[in-house]
Parts: sequence; structure tokens; C-alpha cells
Amino acid sequence: METNSDSLDFPRWFSRSDATHNVARGIMQYGPIARTPLAQIFNLSQGALSRITSDLIYDGVIEEMPAGSTQAGRLPQGFDLRESSERRGRPQTALRIREDSHAFVGVNIHDGAITVSEVNTMCRPIGSDITETVSNTAPQAVVEQITRMVRELVAASPDAPAPTALGLSLGGHVEDDRYVTFAPFLYWDSSVDLGGMLQRDTGIPTKVFNDLDSVLLHECWFGDAIGVPRFAVITMGAGVGYSISDHGDPIDNPDKSYGLAGHVLIDPEGPRCSSGHIGCSQCLTSDSIAEEYSGIMGRVTTFEEFSHDLRANRPQARRLAERTCYRLGVLVATVSNLAMPSRVLVSGESSFIAKKNREFIRKGIDAYRHSQAAPVEFSIPRFSWRLWSDSAAARAIATYIS
Ligand SMILES: [Zn+2]
Repeated sequence: METNSDSLDFPRWFSRSDATHNVARGIMQYGPIARTPLAQIFNLSQGALSRITSDLIYDGVIEEMPAGSTQAGRLPQGFDLRESSERRGRPQTALRIREDSHAFVGVNIHDGAITVSEVNTMCRPIGSDITETVSNTAPQAVVEQITRMVRELVAASPDAPAPTALGLSLGGHVEDDRYVTFAPFLYWDSSVDLGGMLQRDTGIPTKVFNDLDSVLLHECWFGDAIGVPRFAVITMGAGVGYSISDHGDPIDNPDKSYGLAGHVLIDPEGPRCSSGHIGCSQCLTSDSIAEEYSGIMGRVTTFEEFSHDLRANRPQARRLAERTCYRLGVLVATVSNLAMPSRVLVSGESSFIAKKNREFIRKGIDAYRHSQAAPVEFSIPRFSWRLWSDSAAARAIATYIS
């Protein structure tokens, strides 16, 4: 395999002062937003902010909303607008990102399949996504398959601008937004220059990211967690994932992609995991649920059979789903008590179980949370792999504007 120690060229939308990049990011997250709250959020004088926004308008990064528009974005939690005397009485034009000038490609590799999708600069979908099973897990074969899928995706939206950049996310450990050093679902056991190989084959500037961090950043910049100071995501599916952000940035730690919340005790009477723990968070994984369901049914069953029975409201499946959600609630409480996020998002391919059993999650939380502590806010958005591939693109957008 070709090795290349040079850093990959990755474009930036514009190159100006840190304050200008921060304001652009603020307009991306909180926009449409008027100049007065924007100046207050970034602690800038009206004059300094006006110079920055003029530069950004000149660079084609932002634009003023049409006169009379009342559309407004979400402001940071707890934000209190101080009325500026010079502006009082005069409605201000809000600013927004020029979102249709660029397109970004997102790729997510998950549990034996690849999803590719395209978005604009505000991470809004362009066209349909494409999902295929991974035909061969050898690195070069994966790169060739993704390259072909990306070409098909781009060809299907001929009116969209040529892709500015590509973001790829996967469950595993990534270094320098480029080298994959651990990817259990692909059985890769040595460092793979996935970013370099993809950039060479697709011709699109590429960055590679951890999948959970991407989902987290997507929520903080474009989704439910805009303006939330600290935000956690827990995923359930083939594995159990956990990540947390502070003011929109995923908290970094070199060991985080090794599934650090994967074996936390959540049910002293739960099933035994492959490492020998009783009732650790592995009992939220699809394999563990299938095994537990097999025990209940007295024969070998699959996770698909469990979810089928759950949809059919079979009592054995329903009770296991309720127990699973109580356990998930205990994990949410543990995360909330120790890391103190203002909100927790539950995602992952088996989060549909959680969606139907919110009251059991609440019971699990309540059992391990002080009765006078604020209730834990949690949300369970409708899951789709497209959300994960779009999230990979979101990280490429965040890098492009930073
Ligand atoms: Zn365990």
C-alpha cells in the first residue's frame, strides 16, 4: 500500500482572523441571527462585528435575509439579549449562511454496509442517499466501492455544485482525521490511510472521523443540540457508544473510540457479557438482546425475530424491550450524574426500542437520580443511516469554515 506522510490538502472557505471564523460559525449555528445578539454572543462591539460581517458578505459566506423575514435560528441556552440603545426601535436584518453555493459528500461505514449522501453548506440533504453492503472488507476494495458509490451519488444530482469536500465516519479509532488504526467492523488490524486513499481515488478533499463524534457535532451545529452547553450521545446497536461535547466541540481523548462506556454496570441482575461482567452495558447490544430473547423463548432467536415480535406486540418481546429501556435509563442517569450534560441524545440502529418505551427509560433514570435534581432531558430522533452519513459531511463543513 502506498504510504504518504504529507498532510492532505483540505480547503478552507476563507482565511481571515479567528474572530471572523468564530462569527461565521456562530451564524451557521444560530442563524438567521441579527447583528446585535451576534455581537453580544462573541463579546464584540457593534463596529467590530459590522466589519466582520461586511467581510463575510464580501467573501460570499453569508447574506442578509430578505427584508420583512421573521425567520430566526435558535440562540444559546440561557442567552439574554441586552437591548442596544443605538439600535432600539429599528428592526435589524438577520444574517444567514449562503447555503447553496457548495455541496459536501458524507460517507458512513457501519456494520457491514456503506451509506453515502450529499448535503449543502447548512447540511440540508441534496438528493437521495445510497446504501450498499460492503462487498469486500480489504481496504483497497472498500475505497473502490466508496469511490464508485460517490460517483453515482454526484451524477444523480447534476444541478448541485461539484463537491467541495468529503467526510467519512466509521466506528473505530482515527488519527489525524485520516488514518484508521482500529476498525473492528471492518476487521482491519493495522493502520490504514483511508483518507489519503479516498482523496486520491475520488479526487475530492477528504477527512475521516469517528462516527459518534460526527453525530455529536451534527447535533451541535445543525440539530437538536444547537446552543446546548454540554451534550451527550448514547448509541445502541451492534455496540454501545458514548460521546460528549462541550460548547459544540466533541471532547477529545485518545482512548475514547475504544468504547469506554461499553462495560458500565447497569443491571446487577442482567446477563453476562463476553468479558464476564454481569449486567454491564453490553446488554444493550443487538447480540445480547438476541441471546436474552433466546433464553426467554427457549430456542435460538435472532435480533430481527425479536424486533418483529416487538412490532407484533408479543408480550415476551415487549417485556424484554421494557427491561432494556430501564437499563438504558440507568446508563443515561450514570452519564448525567457524572458528566452533567444538559441534554442526552439516544441514537443507533436499535434506538427504535427506546422510542417506544420512554416511560421505562424515565424509570431507569429516576432510580439513580436524586429526586430534587433537574429531570434529565433526553431525545430519541428517528434513526436513519443517512443521518450518520450527513453527520460525516457536517464535520467536513465544520472544518471547511473553521
Ligand atoms: Zn461487560
